[in-house]
Amino acid sequence: MIAPIKRTLADLRAQTAIWRKADETIGVVPTMGALHQGHLSLARAARERCDRVIVTIFVNPKQFNNPDDLDSYPRTEEDDARKLESIGVDLIYVPDPEQIYPDGFATNVSVEGLTDMLCGAARPGHFDGVATVVSKLFLQTSADFAFFGEKDYQQLQVVRRLAADLDIPIEVVGCPTIREEDGLAMSSRNLLLSDRSRIKAPVLAEVMEDMRAQLRDGDGMSDIAEDAKTRILAAGFNDIDYLELRDGRDLSLLDQTVPDARLFAAAWLAGVRLIDNIAV
Ligand code: AMP
Repeated sequence: MIAPIKRTLADLRAQTAIWRKADETIGVVPTMGALHQGHLSLARAARERCDRVIVTIFVNPKQFNNPDDLDSYPRTEEDDARKLESIGVDLIYVPDPEQIYPDGFATNVSVEGLTDMLCGAARPGHFDGVATVVSKLFLQTSADFAFFGEKDYQQLQVVRRLAADLDIPIEVVGCPTIREEDGLAMSSRNLLLSDRSRIKAPVLAEVMEDMRAQLRDGDGMSDIAEDAKTRILAAGFNDIDYLELRDGRDLSLLDQTVPDARLFAAAWLAGVRLIDNIAV
């Protein structure tokens, strides 16, 4: 059965109040829709862990720093609802925009430090948008658990920080990145790639895998980053926002690998921005 879709906070709360009264745990999976196996893996993790599962679909204008990116973002609500059917999600929350940003909305949630680098530096205002909407979705759903993908690793760390800092009683669960067979990290934005670009896209993950091997052999980023960037650009990518080794806990910049080191990349392919990260 397709889960009921609720579009207002009042309707959402009418349902969650019943669940809370019955002492049922609630898991939430925040998404922007155009669901793929990556999103579905989060919904499955929630299904295993929680009595009730809410998937939210909201293309959040506040986290887009580029109006064209917002306009072109894929919207596939009916398909999304159908994909969630087999998982047994209890409710799909697709808030009308005024349920998130009512007239006069004036509050901004801004996480400092963690957002200075990587996508925070490349996309000014992006993480304020994420932090604000995620805070609202946590409070609106009153969920006990929230499931986020490591695909957006910086976002996962930002969300963990804001939940702790604002005393929101929710456990943030990180889930591994799901990839296509050729290694490309699944992303709603992959739908925007032409057939030709889609063939080139896996090179980003391939180069990162090779860098991981080199880093494990003791090379530093200063030895290998230039060659890696050259390979990515030679494959047809137009620009690289970043290709960096960072500590997975505080995202501080590294040259050599350490136990929690992760490699982070963001690069542009024919107008589509792809991001990826892997543990080294
Ligand atoms: P989005 O709809 O892109 O905002 O993503 C919603 C959630 O799905 C976020 O927690 C993402 O990190 C997660 N997600 C997106 N792509 C993947 C993937 N390939 N594997 C695992 N999680 C993902």
